[in-house]
Amino acid sequence: MPTPPTILLHTCCGPCATTCTERLGDSGEEPLLFFSNCNIFPREEYDLRLEHARKLAVILGLDLIEDAYDHGAWLSAVAGLEDEPERGLRCQACFRFSLSRAADRADLLGLPAFTTTLTVSRYKSSAQIFEVGRAFPKFAPLDFKKGNGYERSIDLSRLYGLYRQNFCGCEFSVGRRKGSAG
Ligand code: SF4
Repeated sequence: MPTPPTILLHTCCGPCATTCTERLGDSGEEPLLFFSNCNIFPREEYDLRLEHARKLAVILGLDLIEDAYDHGAWLSAVAGLEDEPERGLRCQACFRFSLSRAADRADLLGLPAFTTTLTVSRYKSSAQIFEVGRAFPKFAPLDFKKGNGYERSIDLSRLYGLYRQNFCGCEFSVGRRKGSAG
């Protein structure tokens, strides 16, 4: 019998989920991957990230569920904030959008907690994500970039042959930075 999940893991992409699933497993948790990324644009990029998140789930023997892709709703949530820099108010609204959907899904599934892979990225402020997460009682504020979590995600992504994107995800982040996933 498969072990029932104990925590919902909002999953932004396969590479970031590598460190999170490893650490959650080390803590005795059984994560259920929840791919919820209405922020990602264009659709081809969304599909590519989903494909590699699924690839990781198969490798690790974990379940993954996909949220509906509603980029229009996401655009409405960040309206007026398009020109904000990364780590600014647009990203705050983006985090709220995704964490809200994860909170709803955790409730729907009857899971006691949820967290997010977003804190792996060295480009994102974990404090900003935690501030948004405070609004959701089931949110577990886990800082996966601690202890070289980001570097670990790069190593594991190479090991598993996962696609690593070079921009955060939305159309407003394209070309804004050089570097890697998350
Ligand atoms: S840069 Fe990333 S976190 Fe910020 S709004 Fe775009 S997709 Fe969301």
